Amino acid sequence: MVENLQKTVAIVTGASSGIGRAIAKNLAAAGSNVVLVARRKQRLNDLATEIEKANGQSLPIEADLTSSDEAIRVVNETIDKFGTLDILVNAAGVMLNGDSIETPVKDWDAMVNVNLRGLMYLTKAALPHLKESAEKSDRKVSDVVNISSVAGRFAASQVAIYSATKFAVTAATEAWRQEYTRQHIRFTVIEPGKTATELFDHRVGENEAFEKMFGKVEELQADDIANTVHFIVTSPRRMAINEVVIRPTDQA
Ligand code: NDP
Repeated sequence: MVENLQKTVAIVTGASSGIGRAIAKNLAAAGSNVVLVARRKQRLNDLATEIEKANGQSLPIEADLTSSDEAIRVVNETIDKFGTLDILVNAAGVMLNGDSIETPVKDWDAMVNVNLRGLMYLTKAALPHLKESAEKSDRKVSDVVNISSVAGRFAASQVAIYSATKFAVTAATEAWRQEYTRQHIRFTVIEPGKTATELFDHRVGENEAFEKMFGKVEELQADDIANTVHFIVTSPRRMAINEVVIRPTDQA
């Protein structure tokens, strides 16, 4: 991997698992100082050790992003340690789909609280620092990459609230893009299809809609999404990639 993110600082949420973990490793390999955020501290510590062994730098921070105070603390600890913030990747998410009569309202709340509120709190706390980095850093640009979903473009039966949170992520990303692009903060939304991670283990019971939608496709790998993020954040300053849909080739 070419070390083209030297001297940058990146926060990656969802770094304890799946897509977030792969993105964190990828950015660290490219020279970024990566702040690893999730609730499972041991997993973050293990990843930090792995990154260190590969001569990278990271800072694991255990945080529950459903709290605005926690999101603010993540950004404050990042600035205390590294002095700046250039890249924010919001990958933390939960998916608890199922029959809407059977699904407990706490599962819907959990998706809204992590997928939307968590992303919203952290983005808000990070924005002043991203703005400063876009003005003062060598890159003269900063990046926010939000992981939405194909469910953020197409609604499906039994996926109502997950889909609603991801449509919201897609909408907020576009609105923020318009608000901050002249200040050289690039906003990108990535909408992956089925990717081999623990996400599908969150869900209880069968999900007919998902089975129908996906069938037996050859899933994407978390590294496929990480490589896409790498391409986005290392693109030249003049080039902003606003939206990327990535489906498994077999996924109709
Ligand atoms: P994983 O379940 O593997 O990872 C989810 C991550 O979110 C974990 O690191 C988890 O960490 C973190 N997380 C969950 N709740 C919180 C919380 N309250 N505070 C902080 N972190 C939290 O799933 P994926 O890697 O697949 O998911 C990453 C993103 O990609 C999600 O936004 C998901 O919606 C999206 N996506 C995934 C697809 C797929 O097919 N896998 C397809 C489309 C989009 P911890 O539990 O340690 O807190």
